[in-house]
Parts: sequence; C-alpha cells; structure tokens
Amino acid sequence: MDHQADTVGSPASGPAGHPRRAGVAPTQRRSGTAVFHEEFSHPETPFRVVGNIYYVGTVTLPSFLIATPQGHILVNTTYERNARVIEKSVTDLGFKFSDVKIILGNHAHGDHQEGDALVKQMTGAQVMAMAEDVPALRDMKPGGKEHPIDKIFRDGDTIALGGTTLVAHLTAGHTRGCTTFTTTVQEGGRTLNVMFGCSLRSPAVISPAVAAEFDRSFKKVRSLPCDVQLGDHGAQYNMHEKFAKLQEGAPNPFIDPASCTLEADVQEAMFKATLAEQPPRQ
Ligand SMILES: [Zn+2]
Repeated sequence: MDHQADTVGSPASGPAGHPRRAGVAPTQRRSGTAVFHEEFSHPETPFRVVGNIYYVGTVTLPSFLIATPQGHILVNTTYERNARVIEKSVTDLGFKFSDVKIILGNHAHGDHQEGDALVKQMTGAQVMAMAEDVPALRDMKPGGKEHPIDKIFRDGDTIALGGTTLVAHLTAGHTRGCTTFTTTVQEGGRTLNVMFGCSLRSPAVISPAVAAEFDRSFKKVRSLPCDVQLGDHGAQYNMHEKFAKLQEGAPNPFIDPASCTLEADVQEAMFKATLAEQPPRQ
C-alpha cells in the first residue's frame, strides 16, 4: 500500500495535492501526474540557502542539510527512491553523507519521510520524531522495513549538534505530529531566525479535534521568530523564484521576514473555506 502523501488530492488542493493558488513555480504549474512524479525525484541543483543550511532535495521535494563541525542534520529524506539523489547533492556540496548524524522530518507522510530507514542504513544517523507522529511513522514501512525511531521529542524540545540548536514546535493539523523547526544561523555578521515550516494544508474532512489543532497551529506559526521561511514544499516559500534570484547574484532572497506568514495566510483561508463546507455535525 502506498503511504498517505501530499500527492493525494483533495477538494482543498490542486493537482498532486499542491494548493491552488496563483504564482506557483513554473515546474508546479504544469498539469499531469507523470510530470509531478518525475519532478518529485528529479535532482535540483544543491545550493547554500543561508548560514549553514543547504538545499539537497529534488525539484519539488525539499530536503535540507544543516552542516556542523560535529556532523550534519538532514531534514526530510523524502521518498526512499530519492536517497541516492540526496546523497549526491550532499557529496556535490563537498560534505560526506556518512557525516549525517540526525534525521528529522516535518511530518509523517511518505513524500517527506519514507526514506528514513534507507538513509539511516546509508549513514548510521539517528532518526528523531515528534511523539504525536510516531504511530503514523511506524506504519510507514517501504519494502517492509521497520521505520526507525531512535529518539522521540515533544513540543518545545531542542535538538542540538555541533553548535546548531533546533527547537521542535508541534504545529499539528496536517498530521497529528506536524513539526515546525526553528533555529538561528549567522550570515553577514547577523543572527537570522530560520523556520522549517510544516504543511498547514487541511484535509478535505476536518474533525473537531483537527480543527482545534489547526486553530492552535496557525497562531503558533505566526508567533515564531522568522527571517527565513523554509518548508516541506517549495511553493510554501517561493523556492524556485528565490533560487533564481540567488543565482543572479541578488542579496540573499531567502532572507525575507515579510513572507514568513504568507503560507499560513493562504492555508488558513482554505481551512476556513473547507470548514464552512463541512456537513453539519449530528
Ligand atoms: Zn503531507
């Protein structure tokens, strides 16, 4: 059985589950399942985003390497079939894949965390997960492999390695343990707040419990310190547009505090519209 993933469409989403909206990256504007599936695995040029954070994902599935002198943190292994693509991107940037010590994911859907078991086999890294997403992760068994979980963290816990500290924030709704990570980096003599956002896209049917989770999560996301917004899909933070500007030599376009809550605004509007269409409760 395929795992639940953001490729599952819903009335609140466009093709392949991407939010319907104007201004998405050109690669995401094309319709057709084949194109989407190809781009889920098509390598993107790896690049430094900001500070010690590097993009090592595919064209449409972000994966981030946070490089430290004591080894690296990998955020989102994506699909298992992308493990070699991510390994090559890490290597092309001059790092060793075997130096990945910690594997994190934004949420327990296959397009973000299916590769955890294989990447752990390849690197020996520890897989750490938010408690509320552990049951869904345990059900994710590509090729029958058990999903490794070496450490369970909770809302507000920190994950530290080699001078970098991430704070794990529970921003539930899309999954029960959807996790937004925040950290700080140094760039150009400044300390910048970076947010690795978790999807805020609501399901087509919203239970009262999930509605309450989203209400908390929208508030929480807006309260987090943020100069650089990243996320588990590039469209959440206009990745391709910003990467193009970066390649043109513009001042780092990823440093963009004004854009930090745009995704929450889009998704909260869709959440409210979806909620308004729910059948009345008995
Ligand atoms: Zn998802």
